[in-house]
Amino acid sequence: MKDTLRTDVAIIGAGPAGLSAALWCDELGLDRLILEAGREPGGQLLWTHNVIDNYLGFKAANGREARDRFLVQIEERGLHILLENVADSVTSDPLRVRLRKGETIQPRAVIIATGVRRNEPELQNLKTFRGRGILESGKRDKELAAGKTAMVVGGGDAAFENALILAGTADKVYLVHRSEEFRARPEFTDAVRENGKIEIITNSEVARLDGSDRLESVTLTGEGSERSLSVGALIFRIGVRPNSELVGGLVATDSRGYININSNCRTDVEGIYAVGDVANPVSPTISSAAGMGATAAKAVFSWI
Ligand SMILES: Cc1cc2nc3c(=O)[nH]c(=O)nc-3n(C[C@H](O)[C@H](O)[C@H](O)COP(=O)(O)OP(=O)(O)OC[C@H]3O[C@@H](n4cnc5c(N)ncnc54)[C@H](O)[C@@H]3O)c2cc1C
Repeated sequence: MKDTLRTDVAIIGAGPAGLSAALWCDELGLDRLILEAGREPGGQLLWTHNVIDNYLGFKAANGREARDRFLVQIEERGLHILLENVADSVTSDPLRVRLRKGETIQPRAVIIATGVRRNEPELQNLKTFRGRGILESGKRDKELAAGKTAMVVGGGDAAFENALILAGTADKVYLVHRSEEFRARPEFTDAVRENGKIEIITNSEVARLDGSDRLESVTLTGEGSERSLSVGALIFRIGVRPNSELVGGLVATDSRGYININSNCRTDVEGIYAVGDVANPVSPTISSAAGMGATAAKAVFSWI
């Protein structure tokens, strides 16, 4: 890549929102560069192991299959994605995108489609036990919990769903949440409460992970006491946070870092748009991401 690249639109992120924005930029004849931090496009679709049956138009066995279907259209149009290119910062006046590799992009507009990442607790042995007791996904890794005592941490749909999945293989499942109130839908909370293998522990947080070369026990703190439980499989589902640091201090965000946008997906800075989960705490879905990508491309086209 050259040191400075000019383009109509710099699209940052190649999840569903960025891919949709790219398709619509092409449709409208806008020149664009698509930057993706990862080794492959798809964003969260790459870590979605459940069936996708709520995106209008097709059903997919998992996120990767949905991603592959999106890529057919992207490839048919010859849209090239610059993989392993992290956008470190965006500046305005003049509008620039600086890449971690050192290059600068000089676009007329920027579409931020950087999505969200999972929250993780700050625990000493987290990295050591990843893949050695700490599982990435109940759906994908449930056999690794077979015959073990498992634990899921969190209070939303994802935590409850994972507890139910692990209960299919594990001997016992603890569902640990820091409060007594759950964000999960009643269909999940009811099913968990009715499942004899799952024990709900409230007002507690994970304080320590222990084991020799694999996770063997988890120490919880809560209500002024500490207790250690023998646990061989653990999943954290404690929410997500928006990847908005690259525009930190430049565009307005809410208190959690979600980018504020208007109905055209424009931020409060001219020329900077945000689409998909990074700007949508209310409806983080593939459908919304795809729609927002199209909206931003159309708005950029009208503005340019
Ligand atoms: C387990 C799971 C199951 C789900 N199931 C469904 C479902 O059934 N139906 C549904 O509609 N939705 C589902 N979702 C939600 C859906 O996947 C998201 O709403 C959607 O992926 C959001 O798309 P996005 O493009 O906004 O963000 P993302 O998919 O998060 O993509 C963002 C991309 O930006 C890249 N990026 C981030 N920062 C930078 C940077 N600085 N520079 C360059 N690139 C960057 C990332 O690498 C990533 O590829 C699920 C999500 C998960 C995790």
